[in-house]
Amino acid sequence: MTQISINSELHKKMIHWRHWLHQHPELAFKEFSSSDYIAEVLESLDFEVQRGWATTGIIATLKGTGKNADKAKTIALRADIDALPILEKNQIPHKSLHEGVMHACGHDGHTAMLLGAAAYLKQHDDFNGIVHFIFQPAEEGEGGARVMVEEGLFDRFPCDAVYGMHNWPGIPAGEFVVHDQEVMAATDTFHITINGKGGHAAMPNQTVDPVIIGAQLITALQSIVARNISPVESAVVSVTVINAGDATNVIPDQLTLSGTMRYFDNAVGDRVKQRLQTLVDNLCKSMNATGETRFELGYPATINTPELAKVCASVAQSLVGEASVHRNNPPSMGAEDFSYMLNASQGAYIWIGNGEGHGGCMLHNSHYDFNDDILPLGANYWVKLVQKILI
Ligand SMILES: [Zn+2]
Ligand SMILES: [Zn+2]
Repeated sequence: MTQISINSELHKKMIHWRHWLHQHPELAFKEFSSSDYIAEVLESLDFEVQRGWATTGIIATLKGTGKNADKAKTIALRADIDALPILEKNQIPHKSLHEGVMHACGHDGHTAMLLGAAAYLKQHDDFNGIVHFIFQPAEEGEGGARVMVEEGLFDRFPCDAVYGMHNWPGIPAGEFVVHDQEVMAATDTFHITINGKGGHAAMPNQTVDPVIIGAQLITALQSIVARNISPVESAVVSVTVINAGDATNVIPDQLTLSGTMRYFDNAVGDRVKQRLQTLVDNLCKSMNATGETRFELGYPATINTPELAKVCASVAQSLVGEASVHRNNPPSMGAEDFSYMLNASQGAYIWIGNGEGHGGCMLHNSHYDFNDDILPLGANYWVKLVQKILI
């Protein structure tokens, strides 16, 4: 049975909420008006809200009225609420009113779907157990989930498992992807400084040229994944920023390189870092320069609890059929801060197809927009998950 149907009153409300959020996008930890709006919607639905988690985060709790309360479990459902520093290029009625800020990752849709599920479950609370609805700030790069966990999210709201969902353009609307374990990669950043000895470009023999060393280092770094990581493991090393020199007739003193590395297994990440450090140190030394390497730790890998991923898949299958729930898609080398919640609790994170959308563009594109047609399906997934687990 479908709980929330297409074109229902609740669907129209979710569209209304989504469009308001889309018009008022806010960056990480600054989602003040979005947070007010979400709290107002929840209060209008008769929820009490806990505010101020990680600055702008909100938690609303619903206790079921079923008769088996003694066997009851508690689960948490999470949506992210922040936007990105992108100038929206869509010409749509609900286009961003905040120039240079845009809901280009669909967190407006994630929030609307979770509000829709909360609205429905408030009216259909004959389940056993407790649901915490988590509206989390700062997913984009700032780790709002980490802050909430550090603030004691799961101490204050203990739960058996936590669940997340992200829309995925390119996967048809009406389909899901559920990974058994790895969903998204861990991401760390590296910063390398090569200190040489500058001088006249016409007298290179009197210098230690950091540009020549940097060029060799970039190539050498590509040998890490190719030659130090097993072919059946996954890792990425990408140099993305290079800075050196100001004048064509001057060999600079210094060159800096930065980039990103991705992996699923921490042992693989450690191996990449150790090899990177060794290459920097030894290549610089062999060329009479010195090298400095600094790592900035990013999000950990997002890894599902396999048996809970199976539960999520069966819920999705009950909504769209077995053929429309993909179980063998490769994970993404992108990253997601829901990983901090999955490091602190059991749980699972799934992808819901957003369809082709405007021009088929991917997340973080200035032409992206969340697909309003999938709001009922996403909300129904949350409802059915609650009804399946909290029996
Ligand atoms: Zn994003
Ligand atoms: Zn996102």
